[in-house]
Order: sequence, then C-alpha cells, then structure tokens
Amino acid sequence: MAREILNIENLFVEYSNIRGKVKAVRGVNLKLYKGENLALIGESGSGKTTLGTAIIRLLPSSGYIKDGKIIYKGNGNEYDISKFNEKDLRQFRWKEIAMVFQSALNSFNPVLKVWDQIYDTAKAHGISNRSFVRERAISLLRYVQLDPERVINSYPHELSGGMRQRVLIAMSLLLEPKILILDEPTTALDILTQRNIIELLRTIKSDMGLSMIFISHDLSLAAELADRVAVMYAGAIVELGSVEDIFYRPRHPYTLGLIKAVPTVTAGFRELYSIPGSPPDLINLSPGCKFAPRCEYRRSECEKDEPTLVEVGPDHFVACIRHKEINNGR
Ligand code: ADP
Ligand code: MG
Repeated sequence: MAREILNIENLFVEYSNIRGKVKAVRGVNLKLYKGENLALIGESGSGKTTLGTAIIRLLPSSGYIKDGKIIYKGNGNEYDISKFNEKDLRQFRWKEIAMVFQSALNSFNPVLKVWDQIYDTAKAHGISNRSFVRERAISLLRYVQLDPERVINSYPHELSGGMRQRVLIAMSLLLEPKILILDEPTTALDILTQRNIIELLRTIKSDMGLSMIFISHDLSLAAELADRVAVMYAGAIVELGSVEDIFYRPRHPYTLGLIKAVPTVTAGFRELYSIPGSPPDLINLSPGCKFAPRCEYRRSECEKDEPTLVEVGPDHFVACIRHKEINNGR
C-alpha cells in the first residue's frame, strides 16, 4: 500500500473582491502518495493555482481557506497545514513543501543577482550559514545542468527562460523538501526547452524520490510526467484516476473534451476541437453540475444537484451522473 504524505479534506478556498466571493476551490478531497507525481489539469481559472498556493499557504491577501483540512504526514507526525501560524509556516515551507511558481519571468527580483535571491530564500527559512548555502546552491545548479559560477553571479535578465526555470527548480530543492509543487513549469517556454525541463523533472523524481504535484492546462505534460491525474473544473475535482484511466478511459464529458482539444501531429489545424462555451462565474454559481451548460450529455437532472465523485473503477472517480454512457471515451 502506498503511503500518503498529504491528505486534503473537503477544502474550500475563496477570494474576496468588490463583486463578492470568488469560490475558487470547492470541496476538494485529494491525497498525495509518497513518491508519486500527481497532475492537476483543467482550463485556465479552474482553481489549480489556488489549490497549490493554499497547500503551501501563500494565497494572496484577498484569499483565504474557508473550510477543510490539509493534513501533512511527515517526520512520523500529522499536521494540519491550514491551522499553521506564521512561525509554523517558516519551519515548514521549503523544508517540507516547496513550490515553483508560474512564470519563470516574474518570480525573480530583477535587481538581485541569482546568488542574493538564493541566499535571501535560505535566510528567510532560518539558514544563514553563507558557505553552506553557497555550496549547496552550486551543487544544485550543477545538478540542473547550469554552469554554477556563471549563473550565480548573473541577474535574471541575463538568463534565458529555460535557464531561469532551472534556477527556480534548483532553489526549490535547497532545503530538501519532501513535496514539490510546480505551477505550469513549461508553459512560458518554447517546445525544445519544454522537453529539457520535462527530462529534468523526470530525473529529479527518480533521483530524489520526491512527491510532486504539477499544475498544467496542458494535457500532454500530464501524459508525460504523471502517475495520477486530477481534472479540475470550476474549483472542484470532476475526475480523478491513473494517467491511463484519464487518457484511455475518461468518464467525464469535460475530460473527454480536454483530450479531444489536444492538438495532434496528424490532425491539421482545421480539425482542432475546442470545448464550446466558457467556464462559469465563480461568484454566482448555479446549483447542479457546473459543466452542464457546456455539456453535450446534459439532461434536465444535471441542473438540480451537483454530482459528487463516485468510484467507477479501481481508484478512478468521476462526478457525472451519465458516466456509464461515456464508457468508451472516444
Ligand atoms: P487556474 O490556476 O486553474 O488558472 P486560479 O486558481 O488562478 O485558476 O483561479 C481560480 C479562480 O480564482 C479564477 O476565477 C480566478 O479569477 C480567481 N482568482 C485567482 N486569483 C485571485 C485573486 N487574487 N483575487 C480574486 N480572484 C482570484
Ligand atoms: Mg494557474
């Protein structure tokens, strides 16, 4: 039996803004097992980044955990991250769970050299031994296949997007976290650089036995890196299963639509499918299935109650009352 390292229970996250409350994460139940790669996929605005930043408790000031638990199991103990105070969080972030934020371009302070950013991160987490940090930084930069001496003395603008992403990945490993969350790690990069980053993430996983959560709107990335996939729509998980289940036996019409929308080499541009309509307003949500307005399998019952996840196969869960009819996928 795989051991769980993280257990998210009935998590609700909201943002307050002038229009009202944005219900960005709604009732998420999700486990992460030791050593696994879990992909969170879904269109832009589905709540992926919110879920990631809630786990590490770095939500923007308008965001807050409304309800639920985030249980971290480490060092023989269990902790509820959602109850941590600032002091607890300093002990915890980057040492137990680290996150590589979206956009290698914007995560850096442009006026600080790479070394200063690395040292600042270490100091913020209570490690101020310069030579220790320097040595570890050099070895990690080498590990991510950068020239350490050159990179450590560079300003961010002197590095390419791919190099910056490598630096961020190296920094995230500084304090040897058990869980690494990567938000759209390849999105801003060209296709060849994407490939190299994917290879690097594979190597890290096999060398370090980390558990990873990576967030992507790109299904092909999930196909390459994930053991399990959670599909998010309007703040909720609508399908959860092994990577094989999700790609070969999808049972939610939304998952099916995402798969159909992946460009293939053989199909020309004209055949490229996109799911009609757009995601709902997360401030004024109607009852029922949130995907129903865009769903070709919709029935009147779909608009009554929001379906919950049911097990449709071993460790394969789907929130759709018509999942039996979506048996064959394509
Ligand atoms: P994803 O990462 O899947 O694209 P996000 O988690 O970024 O989705 O966003 C989920 C929802 O929360 C969206 O409707 C988005 O507009 C909203 N949101 C994200 N950040 C904020 C914020 N700082 N203030 C208000 N709403 C936000
Ligand atoms: Mg995002």
